[in-house]
Amino acid sequence: MGGHNPGIKLLDKDGKRIDGRGLYDLRPIKMEIGVLKKADGSAYLEWGGNKVMAAVYGPKPVMPRHLANPYKAVLMYRYNMAPFSVDDRKRPGPDRRSIEISKISRDALERIVMTEYFPNTMIEIFVEILQADAGTRCAALTAASLALADAGIPMRDLVAACAAGKIDGKVALDLKKEEDNYGESDMPLAISPRTGDILLFQMDGLLTKEEYLESLHLALEGAKKVSEMQKKALKDKYKIETLGGEDDKV
Ligand code: UDP
Repeated sequence: MGGHNPGIKLLDKDGKRIDGRGLYDLRPIKMEIGVLKKADGSAYLEWGGNKVMAAVYGPKPVMPRHLANPYKAVLMYRYNMAPFSVDDRKRPGPDRRSIEISKISRDALERIVMTEYFPNTMIEIFVEILQADAGTRCAALTAASLALADAGIPMRDLVAACAAGKIDGKVALDLKKEEDNYGESDMPLAISPRTGDILLFQMDGLLTKEEYLESLHLALEGAKKVSEMQKKALKDKYKIETLGGEDDKV
């Protein structure tokens, strides 16, 4: 969040954003499930300019063994940005930001994955950001949740994520890089769509109370739309037919 930059206009005179979107529009999202042969579950996600690959391994023996928990599976989540994913080459390996994102994403999934079914095992989730254009932690969690489902890991729900923020004085959904950099605020959110529980919530920049509530509402609505896309992607992949639905043909 670079703060407002008066030199860069993020909204044109018609209120359109730099990529032509309206304030409440999501970027185009594409989800593909089961794309990696060697992983137990995987998903590839394109979300605007973000390209994300998620892979899940496990439940498997815990390494190192002293981390094993006799009551539940240990969840491991690694968010990593490829060096070529951003404009300036990103120094390879973990940094403070990726360690933070990995931790909060893991904590979000801990509430959803039924770890109690798999004591003394570990479930590893790797998310590689191949191309970044802001909103990568949301894209990463959304892809990770699909990869977990693809691995057949029992979950209470899917996890769907989306951010909202403020650009040129207006609350807007799903900021892209320039909007994140030169806008006034960004608020990433992840939910359990079934219960509405908030699993991840962060905010930077400044908002009034009204803007805060509007942004929260917008991010929630965005995450619900993402969750519908997740369900559709999973149904398409596994050809689950809706009882009595139009495509319910034998
Ligand atoms: N970014 C970058 N280099 C970095 C970290 C981030 O260029 O080392 C860019 C990248 O496009 C990222 C955006 O800044 O998506 C916003 O980063 P932020 O930390 O807000 O996380 P995100 O919005 O991706 O979850």
